Amino acid sequence: MDNIQPIFVTQPYLPPLEEFTPYLEHIWKNKILTNGGPFHQQLEQALCEYLGVEYVALFSNGTLALITALQALRVAGEVITTPYSFVATAHSLLWHGNKPVFVDVEPQTLNMDPAKIEAAITPKTTAIMPVHCYGNPCDVDAIQKIADNYNLRVIYDAAHAFGVQCQRGSVLNYGDLSILSFHATKVFNTFEGGAIICPDAKTKRRIDHLKNFGFVDEITVAAPGINAKMSEINAAFGLLQLKHMPYVMERRAEIDSHYRRRLCGVRGIRCVSSSGQIVANHSYFPILVESDYSMCRDELYQKLKDNGINARRYFYPLISDFPMYRGLPSAVRSNLPVAAKAAEQVLCLPIYPSLSDEAVERVINLIIERT
Ligand SMILES: *Cc1c(COP(=O)(O)O)cnc(C)c1O
Repeated sequence: MDNIQPIFVTQPYLPPLEEFTPYLEHIWKNKILTNGGPFHQQLEQALCEYLGVEYVALFSNGTLALITALQALRVAGEVITTPYSFVATAHSLLWHGNKPVFVDVEPQTLNMDPAKIEAAITPKTTAIMPVHCYGNPCDVDAIQKIADNYNLRVIYDAAHAFGVQCQRGSVLNYGDLSILSFHATKVFNTFEGGAIICPDAKTKRRIDHLKNFGFVDEITVAAPGINAKMSEINAAFGLLQLKHMPYVMERRAEIDSHYRRRLCGVRGIRCVSSSGQIVANHSYFPILVESDYSMCRDELYQKLKDNGINARRYFYPLISDFPMYRGLPSAVRSNLPVAAKAAEQVLCLPIYPSLSDEAVERVINLIIERT
């Protein structure tokens, strides 16, 4: 056992180093390091084409993209969101002075349950911030219908949904804005990075001003913007990463189907479904350890860990259980029973391009063997 390398839930994809050197030489020669330089412009264009969207504004990370999206749409007051996500979803609301209102998720996809949204709307509600959890598309039509009825904005936290296509093209084209994260742990990474996907040039312009302190020109500052620009090094790396995405997506799909083939019949193990997708990105492989499995989730988590496999409990604890949220009326357990149950049962298994078939088998065998 000692000589077995530990396996983590993910490992960042890195192209061969020598492929990156020419990009660096370019930067050293032209001495443009940031502020919308040539690589920044090229990556925005390349992402529009790759993702099938109209406008991309690059950011230094996904969290600043979320906060800036709220500012761009002048979202004020209460925002309906999901407790079953990474903590940055709700943190962005607090940073922008909004009050999160949590609604429960639906049991199949663990995405925000549209049937629960209307009851959470008050006169102070101005927006909905759903998450395409694990890259599984939300019920975008149902959410848009409610937003239209109540005149609410919709900002999708699409940090997991890079490259995901549904029946009518990119899932990033729904709502008023969508944000992406290019953090090291995501499917497509630029070390750190993020983006806002927007539908029109005017909104993109406003967002570009906001991410550069609010500067409109040399001497005009139109809004209290922030510094959230992506540097040329990150943008150049993104351009190189993009060339490798077909391989990354293909290998992730192979691992996903390997797990599914061997785990889906196992008593007490439920693979979270990816219904509604045409092109998935296999960013995570979540399983639910149900009550008829031979041990509870935390016991399985520990068993895997003892064998060098570091699965992760995404998303446990719920955002609504963290100290800065748990006092909210919407954070009470009785309001969020489906999310609370999923948080107790979920385990995300390792999935990344360099994970070998042997390693996947080892994970599977530890899960299916009798204890
Ligand atoms: C990763 C992530 C973020 C934050 O993105 P950063 O680039 O790390 O700031 C936000 N929301 C979700 C759902 C995420 O998974």
